[in-house]
Amino acid sequence: MKNMNSRFLLEAIKKPNELQYNSLDKKLEMNNSLGHQDLWIENSDDDSDHFTNTSDTPMRSDAFELSESEKITSISKHFKEILHILGMDLTDESLCDTPNRVAKMYVKEIFKGLNPANKPEMKLFSNKFKYNQMLVEKNITIYSYCEHHLVPIIGKAHIAYIPENYVIGLSKLNRIAQYYSRRPQVQERLTVQIGKELVNSLKTNHVAVVIEADHLCVASRGIQDIQSSTVTSFYNGSFNDESIKSEFLKYLGK
Ligand SMILES: [Zn+2]
Repeated sequence: MKNMNSRFLLEAIKKPNELQYNSLDKKLEMNNSLGHQDLWIENSDDDSDHFTNTSDTPMRSDAFELSESEKITSISKHFKEILHILGMDLTDESLCDTPNRVAKMYVKEIFKGLNPANKPEMKLFSNKFKYNQMLVEKNITIYSYCEHHLVPIIGKAHIAYIPENYVIGLSKLNRIAQYYSRRPQVQERLTVQIGKELVNSLKTNHVAVVIEADHLCVASRGIQDIQSSTVTSFYNGSFNDESIKSEFLKYLGK
């Protein structure tokens, strides 16, 4: 504790369980040689895509002061207004429930990953098999939403880790990828968030995440390119070694 600067100390007082994460954040920033710039494929037209230095989803401190049902009521009201402004007749029986349906979908489904209460529990098991090779969980289907247009990002996440003292149930890897996907996202941040979460939860440095995804904001509007897809990656620990990295990519058929 004595080496901590005052900012970290303050955070330690405020939220002790996140201290490890914050220190890790710093470490990863220094260690992960694959910065965003290497990974970013510029595929938007008039978008003002930009990066912040943090991999955290930008959230306000009062983000959870409203209950889920208060959020649904309020979003529904605003969505009704948007449809009204667009000229839709909300007395039509096909449309009349749309605002409430959208509000429920936002809060309870597609953006439920904004709420840390919905984060899957990452229960570890001791690595009694002494398994010390790579474990790859590939082709995890992800549905996310581009935070610039709120239209779908549909893709596959491939995750690998080399266990040290612990292993985890395989479905948890899918669940954690899906949890971070269910937010307004940019693919680079999604990739880093999943990677950092796994380094933290699995108590191993050796983690890799590759995401291949189609962005409907590119396919269905703007430049309307239905052929392009975006690939992002996170390599940590041994996965920075070329031989380990290429073993992983070989399992992905790359
Ligand atoms: Zn977009």
